[in-house]
Amino acid sequence: MNKKIKMITFDLDDTLWDNRPTIIKAEVDTRKWIEDQVGEVEWGDFNDFLELREDLIKEDKSIAWDISKLRKEIFRKKLSHVNPKKLKNEIVERAFDIFISKRHEIVFFDGVEECIADLSKKYLLGILTNGNADIYKFKIGKYFKFSISSLEARDSKPNRSHFDMALAQVNDVTFENMLHIGDHQINDMYAAHNLGINCLWFNNNDDEWEQNFKKPDEFSSWKNLNNIIKDKYER
Ligand SMILES: [Mg+2]
Repeated sequence: MNKKIKMITFDLDDTLWDNRPTIIKAEVDTRKWIEDQVGEVEWGDFNDFLELREDLIKEDKSIAWDISKLRKEIFRKKLSHVNPKKLKNEIVERAFDIFISKRHEIVFFDGVEECIADLSKKYLLGILTNGNADIYKFKIGKYFKFSISSLEARDSKPNRSHFDMALAQVNDVTFENMLHIGDHQINDMYAAHNLGINCLWFNNNDDEWEQNFKKPDEFSSWKNLNNIIKDKYER
């Protein structure tokens, strides 16, 4: 028998919207803008990015969870040939502003807005994200009591900081009466499961379950989520 759910937390990227096309476009447009300012830049491939990220974390531990700082520092490294420093820093700041604005050009999955509005009538709602998208930039932001990113948590899911902070936002809620919904098997499902938090897996790609604990109930369309929650937790 499930304990009564009082609060539902949601992941953002790839749970409320398809993040890949958004990030790719944001990246391409920002790079183009930078190259319009300074000429061609050697951007490197994904492995270069991972190496650079590791180097930056060695210099500054906070880069592991402050992904906005990470992005700026990567721009700064890629523009190391640009002088004077003041100009370089201005380009980095403006490039980041462009990136973050384009990063919010998302399309919610079908049914998200209606579902969130409905759920907000019955439950406390919150966001737990490792990313730097801001739910309060969208109309549905008004339905969320809190939003915790890795910047606030100073850590990333699957570690527990986001979840502990979520409880600290509200009264009379424990992990047992919390439900977490997300797409990521480790960062969302394993993290929640590990803390005794109820979880529902958003699996819209028909992915195989690859964890060594029981697969949580899953859903592939937001149009069904309200009914799944009703059936599972409101009987
Ligand atoms: Mg996600």
